[in-house]
Amino acid sequence: MREQWQTLRRVLQYYPRVFALIWQTNPGSTLVIFGLTVVNALARPAQIWLVKVIIDRVNLLLAAADPNTAVDWPQLITPAALFALVLILGDVSQSLVLALRTTLGEQADYHVRGLLLAKASTLDIAFFETPAFYDQLENAQSDSWRMRNLPWILVDTSGQMLSLLATFGLLARLNPLIIPLLLLTSLPQLVTQAQRANAMFKVWTERAPTQRMVYYLVNLLSQRESVKEVRLFGLQAPFLQRYFKYSHQFIQENKALAFRYERVNLLTVLLSVFGIGIVWAYGIFQAALARITLGDLALIFQAAQQIRSGLGSLFHTMGVFYEHSLFVSNLYHFLDLAPDAVDGALQTQGVQKVSSPLVQGIEFRNVSFRYPGTERAVLNNVSFTIQPRATVAVVGENGAGKTTLIKLLTRFYDPTAGEILLDGRDLRDYDLADLRRQIGVIFQDFVRYDLTAKENIGFGQVEYLAEMDRIVAAAGKGGAVPVIEKLAEKYETTLGRTFENGADLSGGEWQKLALSRAFMRDAQILILDEPTAALDALAEYEVYNRFAELTTGKTTIFISHRFSTVRMAQQILVLDDGQLIEEGSHVELMAQNGQYARMFSAQAERYQ
Ligand code: ADP
Repeated sequence: MREQWQTLRRVLQYYPRVFALIWQTNPGSTLVIFGLTVVNALARPAQIWLVKVIIDRVNLLLAAADPNTAVDWPQLITPAALFALVLILGDVSQSLVLALRTTLGEQADYHVRGLLLAKASTLDIAFFETPAFYDQLENAQSDSWRMRNLPWILVDTSGQMLSLLATFGLLARLNPLIIPLLLLTSLPQLVTQAQRANAMFKVWTERAPTQRMVYYLVNLLSQRESVKEVRLFGLQAPFLQRYFKYSHQFIQENKALAFRYERVNLLTVLLSVFGIGIVWAYGIFQAALARITLGDLALIFQAAQQIRSGLGSLFHTMGVFYEHSLFVSNLYHFLDLAPDAVDGALQTQGVQKVSSPLVQGIEFRNVSFRYPGTERAVLNNVSFTIQPRATVAVVGENGAGKTTLIKLLTRFYDPTAGEILLDGRDLRDYDLADLRRQIGVIFQDFVRYDLTAKENIGFGQVEYLAEMDRIVAAAGKGGAVPVIEKLAEKYETTLGRTFENGADLSGGEWQKLALSRAFMRDAQILILDEPTAALDALAEYEVYNRFAELTTGKTTIFISHRFSTVRMAQQILVLDDGQLIEEGSHVELMAQNGQYARMFSAQAERYQ
């Protein structure tokens, strides 16, 4: 019980936010809905009252028992006409509310999904590397549909409360004790609803990791990227088996939940019927003793029944609201995530702007780095300097730490120890957006946007998306022009297989587009992480033949496994297991006859 009160209190604090959210979604609709709800809520008590009036008036007429007295028809017909009017008003307002709340709910849903995406896009990369983050995101996203229901639940609850209050008022005239009696015998129903909601919330929240696994399996079985390999290795059956195992587990849990509270529910229903029985008995007794009119007796019968069903639905709706609110707490938990809530998130950023052109270049000073949540140093005391406008290659075995170096330079992470200086200032002193604007980078796992060819290049500098000259020039530098010329609608062709009429490209062709995207960028620093790995030897040769020309005025850092490319760099950094073991030009490093020379010769031999 105490635990439930605590949860209730926790949930209550979200009510104002939920109200505010719905209000923000559409203030006009919200107002109209509440207005109509009031009309709708008062319709039923008004009907009860009018029935009482009609019965009393008819009864008076019968009691007069003088057939010669003229019947005062307006006296009888007016309440009957009002009854009809109330019926119409009630029905019309109800159907209007239904239509409006569907729209408002939809708006609220989109609004919240938008908020979630906006929040996710402000969070550091470090968040996206922790499974717990995906669980939170999954919980918040899968529950955002509940926002769709919250507006109408709020409206229903307030309407039901208002209707109940009015009906209570009708009964209180006859005997105020009726109210606590009906309340007390109905209250246990509310507790059962809350318990059910709590249990459900717990099950669903704990289910998030398994739920994500199910989505993952669904993707493996239905996405183009995986379908080839899954078929070839015959993985459909085992994946489907897992899928059914988890879904069966979900169904069992849901079933257990659905029936666990039914026995208690029956008891609480019996109790509330007992409460009504007492009120009815009281009414009959009073009427028999002529202490109340026949109209009053009719009122007691109707009102008590109305209160029982009204309380029942109120408690039900409150239960659903409570349940939704518990889930909404997940949503707010996500929206309230502090930017540094995860290990490894960036702590600070300054306001410094990057100077153009760069004067001192880039310096790594005793930089070490561990990924959040891991023990191993991926970079270990690395120091080097890159002159402005130099061309630098980074080489090393897989896992040596090359990409990590780039992630630090683009400030997706901060070093665990040491510092990275740009023009003599710590990266942390710079305005993050300005710093990133100065860097054009194509990662190994670059994105293939299933959008137009033009956008695939233009996204490199989105402000210039409409400037065809720049896009064509960038396509020229990245070697993408022949690729685009082959497409049915040239730059306007949609790529990929996600959308109708999409043209799919080979790995090398996609890479040429990605390369063009990097050249599109008006940045001082160009970073290419294995930019030509998917290109054939000739295409790569073409790119690098013009590399110096393409990168004039830019500081260029590239990672490559092809030494024919690497040897063109002015400066080569050799990484081994997180340490910088050699540094110099191709000629210098060959003369040193160390690791670089060994790697170079090994590759050269293969090509002989
Ligand atoms: P390279 O680019 O030289 O192949 P990386 O910089 O990608 O190497 O990776 C260096 C090491 O860091 C690898 O051992 C890899 O397993 C580890 N690593 C890379 N990314 C992460 C991450 N997000 N979390 C934990 N470890 C990582």
